[in-house]
Amino acid sequence: TPRVFSGIQPSGGLTLGNYLGALKRFADSQNSGVQSIYCMVDMHAMTVWQDPAKLARATRELCAGFIASGVDPDRSILFNQSQVAEHAQLAWIFNCVARMGWMKRMTQWKDKAGKNQENASLGLFAYPALMAADILVYHATHVPVGEDQKQHLELTRDIATKFNNDFGVEFFPITEPVIEGAATRVMSLRDGTKKMSKSDPSDMSRINLTDDADAIATKIRKARTDPEPLPSEADGLAERAEARNLVNIYAALENSSVEAVLAEMGGKPFSEFKPRLAELAVAQLAPISGEMARLMQDPAEIDAILRHGAEQARAIAQPILARTYDIVGMVR
Ligand code: ATP
Ligand code: MG
Repeated sequence: TPRVFSGIQPSGGLTLGNYLGALKRFADSQNSGVQSIYCMVDMHAMTVWQDPAKLARATRELCAGFIASGVDPDRSILFNQSQVAEHAQLAWIFNCVARMGWMKRMTQWKDKAGKNQENASLGLFAYPALMAADILVYHATHVPVGEDQKQHLELTRDIATKFNNDFGVEFFPITEPVIEGAATRVMSLRDGTKKMSKSDPSDMSRINLTDDADAIATKIRKARTDPEPLPSEADGLAERAEARNLVNIYAALENSSVEAVLAEMGGKPFSEFKPRLAELAVAQLAPISGEMARLMQDPAEIDAILRHGAEQARAIAQPILARTYDIVGMVR
């Protein structure tokens, strides 16, 4: 039976990229009847330094972001990773299955470790093995993510395959990445070749879900573009990363397509398109940030939701971990 798992790091505030690439899609897919498990991956967040008080706050705010985006804790399991120890337990076994060479090829490792790899944390290097454990400890079959996580999901399949081969079992499923829609890779507003990220040092590079209308309008007005008006056909965006990004965002917010947006906006200059985009973004995001702020007034309620979700998650993970221990020969 299909089972969905996905995670988001409480490594900062949520961005429009997280919303369009993840949260909105999670909320939209809730009626499919498939069991969905969504995790605030706090153990992944700490692979780069996090101030403890900020990490706790970001975890609660992330949970508020899920709910405000329309993910219903009565229908989906919502919890934070560190409350379900089975993730870390399975990750250790996967650390012993995965190879150093596989990890070294990961572009996220290279991007985040930067030039000084010797000084990056061991956790950042091992990140994809923990991510494989997050998914496989539930025998999840489908993982909706943004384009940037495709390589990690291929590694998850490699880990599952190698485990099954090494131990001569058909135990872990081979997971399907689900990367769909107009905005699976929202780019930085300052640089059309870099993805929008909550951990980018420049706040002008991203739209935060908690930004107010003025901040959103300013960031879109100042977003880097070229001087040409919008083309009327999608091919006209091929060599124009920044223009393409803004059109993709518009299409995703509107639930339409790039073709439909260009049919309406083709020929218009950015001085006309940008205010329209800002208006659309504000209209969609303002109710979400309002609801997040409301939910954040009661942190104890958020903690109760996460605790309850963790219990539900553990009930699925425990027997899968127990079976894994049997397979590898760990005596209990
Ligand atoms: P960080 O910079 O700390 O890595 P992030 O913004 O990349 O933060 P993650 O927690 O790493 O966010 O990713 C959460 C989910 O959001 C993943 O499914 C990821 O693919 C998706 N995602 C992240 N950035 C984007 C983006 N720019 N466009 C579309 N989806 C994105
Ligand atoms: Mg990321």
